[in-house]
Amino acid sequence: MSAAICWFRRDLRLADNPALSAAARDGRPVIPVYIHAPGEAGDWAPGAASQWWLHHSLTALSSALAEHGLTLIIRSGETLATLESLIDETGAEAVHWNRLYDPAFIERDKHIKQSLQARGLSVHSHNAALLHEPWTIKTGTGGDYKAFTPFWRAARRQADPDAPMPTPALTAPISTPASTPLAALNLLPATDWAAGLRATWQPGEAGAHQRLTTFLDETVTAYESGRDWPAVEGTSRLSPHLHAGEIGPRQVWQAVQSRLARSNPATEPGLLESAERFLSEIGWREFAHHVLFHHPDFPDYPLNPRFADFPWQDDPDDQLLATWQRGETGIPLVDAGMRELYSTGWMHNRVRMVVGSFLVKNLRLPWQAGEAWFWDTLVDADLASNSLGWQWVAGSGADAAPYFRVFNPVRQGERFDPEGTYIARWIPELGRLPAKHRQAPWEAPQAVLSAAGITLGVDYPHPMVDLKASRQAALAAFSQIKKSD
Ligand SMILES: Cc1cc2nc3c(=O)[nH]c(=O)nc-3n(C[C@H](O)[C@H](O)[C@H](O)COP(=O)(O)OP(=O)(O)OC[C@H]3O[C@@H](n4cnc5c(N)ncnc54)[C@H](O)[C@@H]3O)c2cc1C
Repeated sequence: MSAAICWFRRDLRLADNPALSAAARDGRPVIPVYIHAPGEAGDWAPGAASQWWLHHSLTALSSALAEHGLTLIIRSGETLATLESLIDETGAEAVHWNRLYDPAFIERDKHIKQSLQARGLSVHSHNAALLHEPWTIKTGTGGDYKAFTPFWRAARRQADPDAPMPTPALTAPISTPASTPLAALNLLPATDWAAGLRATWQPGEAGAHQRLTTFLDETVTAYESGRDWPAVEGTSRLSPHLHAGEIGPRQVWQAVQSRLARSNPATEPGLLESAERFLSEIGWREFAHHVLFHHPDFPDYPLNPRFADFPWQDDPDDQLLATWQRGETGIPLVDAGMRELYSTGWMHNRVRMVVGSFLVKNLRLPWQAGEAWFWDTLVDADLASNSLGWQWVAGSGADAAPYFRVFNPVRQGERFDPEGTYIARWIPELGRLPAKHRQAPWEAPQAVLSAAGITLGVDYPHPMVDLKASRQAALAAFSQIKKSD
């Protein structure tokens, strides 16, 4: 029987992988391949943290396939040409992959499908990444949604997602095609800055399931109340695993339903509400893909065109931007978040909103600059969710925060990190201050600073902007674009 190629991309798992299951159907030998072609992602080739993740996720996939007797073939080069030579070498007659929704990949994959079909191959793409593909959720008039709540209501009216597929039985081809060593892709950083990432994450399918199990066993009951507290592990931290496709949303959905089915409402009050809230966050991920699909320039241009003329602040030599990136703004909650990001490749959602608001409003720097930094440093950097998050913060996106809602990082810290635990974790020098002074050390009496051994401007920066004055400046800038309507 001729072999089928399974072209792995961001679906780095064996279970609930429709492309792999289809390739393996009827016992056909399967050639699993990963093709490294970062140039084909347009302006959005994976950033440094994503590359680190990819290296380890491919390692995990390769081991998982080896347990089934298969070798993951790694190649580097233009994708269509690489697939064609693999087809020539192996005599494969079918190619399967799971769909991606980034605009550059939609175009590329369409071209690849047509070219291979023209050669007489059987070519099929599948859905592994979403509960509902972007074009399947429509408004009453057949259009796309710009607001989350009606989108999610419409999605929930659809039939429940299909049950996830098990790992298929896999048969290896008679001979194994040549493969490039993973190290040759140079995905790991030349100077090792990834210790914090290694300490935080276990990329791969097993690590993803471990996270989900821990979340459902230990955290989900208090998700609704705990999800906003950055010092607490109150969320699932599944985002990088979902992005790499080490686990799929159907699997998450089913695991939540089974968790609910075996729960006792009397002993777990709040579980149902928390589970619904968690599923609605998965819904935000779906919504992000929906918006990106219908607005392919969403990563680069404001959805609300009025914001194209926003009077951003001049930042010669990117000095303001660099201060924000390094977590040296002098605003503790912002700096803690930026340091968490740099160290672990992840930042708590509440703090993402706070650091984003600070960049776009208090510093009045373009949201695209923040988006680009997150793209490089997040292990969950995802074109759809990152664009949605930044345009939400900027007030220019779908269902976005109104521009005039400027987060006050001190008030946010007092509300969601009242003991300053998160601040002390990421800025240990401020941990020497009493909790009530950690959010705004510039307001602490000199005697308190001295007792803690802190000299502002030496041990920790003075605030780079006055929060009140910069808020007023942001609102004034906003009123300019309002007038231009
Ligand atoms: C400025 C900004 C940028 C962001 N960039 C990204 C990004 O590049 N990649 C990314 O996955 N998320 C991004 N988010 C959304 C959100 O912050 C993360 O998905 C979340 O913090 C991941 O943590 P978790 O897995 O513990 O989430 P949980 O609370 O456990 O949620 C479960 C899953 O739902 C999805 N999800 C949750 N919130 C959102 C959301 N607001 N939008 C889209 N999906 C969501 C994620 O896949 C997440 O893993 C961004 C948010 C902001 C404000």
